[in-house]
Amino acid sequence: MNNASSRGTDTTAISQLTTERKIPSMCQHQPPCPTADSADRESARLLAAHPEQGWSLLCNGVLLFEDTGELLPDGQIIAPHRPLVQVMTAA
Ligand SMILES: [Zn+2]
Repeated sequence: MNNASSRGTDTTAISQLTTERKIPSMCQHQPPCPTADSADRESARLLAAHPEQGWSLLCNGVLLFEDTGELLPDGQIIAPHRPLVQVMTAA
């Protein structure tokens, strides 16, 4: 019996999530939050914070990680850009 399967990783579902993920309810803040493609995106209001998981969801759909890395709604990844304050360097 040839049991080999050509199953790949389930990237289709992931890419659908990424491309079809909508910004969770339009921003109703005043003044409106900066959009995800704005340089000021991090100053959007927090929609959800999960410090125990190390990330926060901003009103404009940006996922902000505790190391200052970001995941934009269009799937773009922004590398961490701020020095960590609590870096533990093993001596
Ligand atoms: Zn907002």
